[in-house]
Amino acid sequence: MLYRLNNPAPGRPVTSGYGYRIHPIRGGRKMHRGIDYGGQFDVLAAGDGTVTHIGWSPRGGGHVVKIKHATDCYTVYYHGAHRTQLKKGQHVRAGDKIYLSGTTGSSTGNHVHFEVRTGRNGAWGTNTDPNPYFSASSATAPTNNTLRVTGRLDKYTWVAWQTALKGHGLYTGAIDGIPGRLTHLALQRWSGADLTGKLDLATLKAVQVRLGVDDDGVWGVGTVRELQKELLQGLAGAPTPEPEPIIAPPIVPIIVPEPVARVMTRQEVEAIRKRNHFDAMKDKK
Ligand SMILES: [Zn+2]
Repeated sequence: MLYRLNNPAPGRPVTSGYGYRIHPIRGGRKMHRGIDYGGQFDVLAAGDGTVTHIGWSPRGGGHVVKIKHATDCYTVYYHGAHRTQLKKGQHVRAGDKIYLSGTTGSSTGNHVHFEVRTGRNGAWGTNTDPNPYFSASSATAPTNNTLRVTGRLDKYTWVAWQTALKGHGLYTGAIDGIPGRLTHLALQRWSGADLTGKLDLATLKAVQVRLGVDDDGVWGVGTVRELQKELLQGLAGAPTPEPEPIIAPPIVPIIVPEPVARVMTRQEVEAIRKRNHFDAMKDKK
């Protein structure tokens, strides 16, 4: 039987699920070994247990805390804003604060990367999908406070979108799930549309092009579903702008006079031959 865990970030949007996704920094398909919850908030212990590790991840995880819940069930929390106040060996209860989520280590914005590991004897063990461990009340997928592929452009979708855009440095506003001028500007930066700050037809279409759906200018169920899928996998960054054309300086032609070809005289040929022979003799000495 699986150990039952609670959501370590209740009410926070899942910005990247467990499984394959496009890596937000390095690009390329990569296995995402945990669940990312976006934003800055108190990260909570997912279950009763003992703190077995507190440290700084040498592999980009920032401030890391590991909790043992059962012989083959550990949870690990990454990218904390600071070192946890908890002590190694301390017993924690489900819901105890671990730390404030942050963006330490290799990270594009405030979030917690949450992992479930099945290692034994204190080893780091194997990653596994946390979802089956969650008790029904704290499951990430079926609750209405997390991002799901519904085709509805709801507040949670906007929250996840704003979080992801902020993570890419494109959004400067608050993560409030309410799209305004700053959100529209971020979408325009993300999609390469003109920066009008309004959700105009050109922006609606540019976003659709970016998502790889029909650009009819209407964000219907199909468009929103694609958006939600991409948000769950980790939204790709802004398109690489076309390189500026390099204007080369004008080339000033240098006129080299053509050498005048002429036939050598017999004396000249003889002189060259003697000199070559003389040089060859010199080299032998
Ligand atoms: Zn992650």
